[in-house]
Amino acid sequence: MAEREKFILCAAFVLPAWDKEPLKDGALLIKDGRIEALGRRDELISRHPGVPVEDLGEVLVFPGLVNAHTHASMTIFRGLADDLPLMTWLHDYIFPVESHLKSEWVYWGAKLAVAEMLRSGVTCFCDMYLFEPWVIRVVEETGVRAALGEGLFDFPSPGYGPLEEGLKLTEELLRSYEAHPRINILVCPHAVYTCSPETLKKARRIAERYGALVHIHLSETEEEVKQCLERYGHRPVAHLKELGLLNERLHIAHAVELTDEEIEELSRAGVSVAHCPESNLKLGSGVARVPEMLAAGVRVTLGTDGPASNNDLDLLSEMRTAALIHKGLRRDPTVLPAREVFRMATEEGARALGFPRCGRLEPGFEADLAVLDLLRPDLTPVHDPLSLLVYSARAGAVSGVMVAGRWLLREGRILTFDEAETRERVLAIAREIRDLVKH
Ligand SMILES: [Zn+2]
Repeated sequence: MAEREKFILCAAFVLPAWDKEPLKDGALLIKDGRIEALGRRDELISRHPGVPVEDLGEVLVFPGLVNAHTHASMTIFRGLADDLPLMTWLHDYIFPVESHLKSEWVYWGAKLAVAEMLRSGVTCFCDMYLFEPWVIRVVEETGVRAALGEGLFDFPSPGYGPLEEGLKLTEELLRSYEAHPRINILVCPHAVYTCSPETLKKARRIAERYGALVHIHLSETEEEVKQCLERYGHRPVAHLKELGLLNERLHIAHAVELTDEEIEELSRAGVSVAHCPESNLKLGSGVARVPEMLAAGVRVTLGTDGPASNNDLDLLSEMRTAALIHKGLRRDPTVLPAREVFRMATEEGARALGFPRCGRLEPGFEADLAVLDLLRPDLTPVHDPLSLLVYSARAGAVSGVMVAGRWLLREGRILTFDEAETRERVLAIAREIRDLVKH
């Protein structure tokens, strides 16, 4: 996979991890897709004579970001219907158009999403959608890393038909990709309002059988909590607990509506949360209680959610939003410091998605990294590389991305697929979609 089995990568700055200081004139020794050593440039070169050196110049190398919740293929719906309540948006726009969904829409939509994510320094993403085998194909072809699963719900899916087929597909994927180095298959019941207790139990049994992670939308809106209380007599967290799903293999998206007791419950059970602040803001759902979750010891990760409810997949801007919004709400500038947000977007995301050897640039870890171009007015000067990354950097300033030692984006160019063709295909799909909406 690696272009060269063993090489040294040098940069003006290397930020090895959220809890480490940046190295000036830093270097990484990469061997067979993994990081073998980290150190000062001169030191590392003299300790490893004869190893090819690649000097990236005035850049900051940092651990690749992890988008811990998205529906990548929904790039094709970006900007289709904005400024609507979640349930109206879903039931009046997204679900009807999705009933016409085709595998090629999913394929090209996901490919465009990968192009967009690479350009914001993302090396790994978590995906729940329909026709997921086509997203998997994109992951295989583009070289990115992902944890993904077919979205499951009670009503028939355009992807697999009746629910039983979706469960079967999930099991097939779990078996086929068991040993894949870059792909983790998830069991993905969509939400408690689209999955009956019986469906959720079936999903749980599959997850138990294969030791798989479960990913679900949970406690996203007040309306969802109200419905859950009316139907089942308790709130979503208690509902999942009763169904045996509340454990360290559960990764929930949103978690906006949580009581103190529910936060304690999530912490005790070892559940991880994907905080999606921009989607929650755009859909007017509120703001998740992240400082409280962190104080209680809940693993919090960061996600963009689908590009139809954000409306982008820029995890750099998501870090900034997360860092800012909680300060404003609390009227306290010390809440959620840049370091904490960077932790959520790197190591915590990687752990929640079942990639414990990602999210840090240290010996033994995967060479999943991104390169930030510092020769820009908005990224000058460099007093503090971490601050620059969280508060100043935007998608587009990332000029390189490597996954498992292989360059996917280099000097601003995507190497593993044709970005222009992908864009053309999505434009054609968008025309089809607009015709559907008109009728
Ligand atoms: Zn979502």
